[in-house]
Amino acid sequence: MSDCLFCKIIEGSIDAKCVYEDEHVLAFNDINPQAPLHILIIPKKHIATINDIFPEDVETIGSMSLAAAKIAEQEGVADKGYRTVVNCGEGAGQTVFHLHMHILAGRSLAWPPG
Ligand code: 5GP
Ligand code: ZN
Repeated sequence: MSDCLFCKIIEGSIDAKCVYEDEHVLAFNDINPQAPLHILIIPKKHIATINDIFPEDVETIGSMSLAAAKIAEQEGVADKGYRTVVNCGEGAGQTVFHLHMHILAGRSLAWPPG
């Protein structure tokens, strides 16, 4: 998608601090961190929201959770705890319409979220 910010990060035309990459996903630091650790995991395939997933995307979607666990270990937060968040749609606060999983850690995280 030529007008998608996260597709541009995948292509390399917009810079991001990459922390993990595999066949299906890319992960990088959020530009406006909401916690000491705030990483975004995105599928390399353009998928707008969780509403737009097809059965053939199941490996990609599963890879996002596998990547979250690997990144949490790599960043040293796996034992203490971290939160994964996927906002779906404007009402939930989604602002970039390329599916992404937030990983937040490094401070106490309130529940329920705001
Ligand atoms: P959403 O609100 O859609 O769930 O999350 C979008 C996230 O993307 C936000 O946390 C925002 O800070 C992050 N973001 C927006 N633009 C950029 C960018 O150009 N680079 C990076 N690394 N993160 C971005
Ligand atoms: Zn995209």
